[in-house]
Amino acid sequence: MISEQLAVLCERLADSAGGVRASPRMAALAESIAGRVRAGAEPADVADDFDALEEMLLQAGHAAGLSPVRSYDRLPGAGDGHRVLEVLRCPGGSCPRVELPGARPVPCAVHLKPMVVQRLPS
Ligand SMILES: [Zn+2]
Repeated sequence: MISEQLAVLCERLADSAGGVRASPRMAALAESIAGRVRAGAEPADVADDFDALEEMLLQAGHAAGLSPVRSYDRLPGAGDGHRVLEVLRCPGGSCPRVELPGARPVPCAVHLKPMVVQRLPS
């Protein structure tokens, strides 16, 4: 399991409508992985379960699986002329998910804490 996959897991857990929430089995596995990461598990410790989760997602018809979908250079809104000066970053350090600051607070679904504002170097 790589850190980008953790970010995607975080996003999928946060998404109440899609991905891992589609089935109780997938949701339970995803929560279990997040719980172990929260408890300090090394990425290698959860890699097998992460692969299993990805397999379940693919079988459920989520073609993208848990492949990375978002990073600094692919933020929504970035590249449309607006300079991104601040992003919300996962608080744990182990999850590289970033979001644009918005009206609603965004919790990290892996660490169960609010995402923190990080100023980008300009
Ligand atoms: Zn996160």
